Amino acid sequence: MAFKLALAGIGKIARDQHIPAVTASPDWELAATVSRHATVDGIQSYEDVAAMLAARPDIEVVSLCMPPVPRFDYARAALQAGRHVMLEKPPGATLSECQALEAMARKAGVSIYATWHSREAAMVATAKAWLAGKRLESLVVTWKEDVRKWHPGQAWIWQAGGLGVFDPGINALSIVTEILPDPIHLTASDLFIPENCETPIAATLAFAHPQGAHVSAEFDFRKEGDQFWNIAIETSEGSLVLSEGGAKLAIDGVPHDAAPGGDALKGEYPRLYARMADLVRAGEIDMDLSPMAHVADAFLLGRRITVAPFVE
Ligand code: NAP
Repeated sequence: MAFKLALAGIGKIARDQHIPAVTASPDWELAATVSRHATVDGIQSYEDVAAMLAARPDIEVVSLCMPPVPRFDYARAALQAGRHVMLEKPPGATLSECQALEAMARKAGVSIYATWHSREAAMVATAKAWLAGKRLESLVVTWKEDVRKWHPGQAWIWQAGGLGVFDPGINALSIVTEILPDPIHLTASDLFIPENCETPIAATLAFAHPQGAHVSAEFDFRKEGDQFWNIAIETSEGSLVLSEGGAKLAIDGVPHDAAPGGDALKGEYPRLYARMADLVRAGEIDMDLSPMAHVADAFLLGRRITVAPFVE
């Protein structure tokens, strides 16, 4: 039987990914939306989460797609009403509020899932399996995209808690923390902040690795032309490049594409919703905050460098 789902925060990612993934899956029935301005044709809509929770006790799961800062209040309301909760990335605005949500879910005996969609990209699992047991020499993340193309009109990204270039950069960190067998920790970061913004437009990060491998990341929102979402890895037994955000992979320069028609073609969001259905059935919680911890560390340790104002 399908789980009844309410989707809250009907904007770009809800329309691009969540609604198609939910409506295509036999696990789910899109039973309601919660959004202050938007509605979805044929689906009962609410402007207020408390009103939805009161009116629809049949809805078991609430999936939250709004930006991170307002998300906590929605998640708390849903958990306190005994509903399972699925969180877009990043799972919240601070680590402490995410830990508080996990504690609420445990107390209520419901599932909570901090999703990391990039971990579900087609070739991430293959990269993880290849890397296991090899000695890492270096890992370099290059995540450079044009903010005007990918985030048009998203003023929240430039406000405190909106993460700036770490909004896409945290996707790279979610892959790194998934595929690396050993934990890393941040040792330095430079944050390039436009003089009219509260969040960085670019950042460089350096990490310590337990075996001394070079691990670094470069994020830039100012990239026009070719866009890069790459992770280049050197080991003592060869090299691996994940590109296009984890959708493509090459080992020693040879492309290894997902098998046609195979599981890899199902896509990131269908996998996230399949995992959420599994968590609810099993009564489990998946709240890995490690990508967000690295971002928090970058803000803690980061050297602020003021750069030219950003004008969309
Ligand atoms: P968005 O379109 O700017 O916002 C989504 C919706 O959230 C808005 O349409 C708005 O709906 C609601 N919202 C905005 N501010 C709010 C507030 N203060 N209180 C309550 N609701 C508010 O953003 P998005 O691109 O979908 O991104 C949302 C989340 O998804 C972010 O965490 C982002 O990192 C993640 N994400 C985005 C993408 C992408 O390609 N865009 C990809 C993966 C993940 P109403 O005004 O109708 O309430």
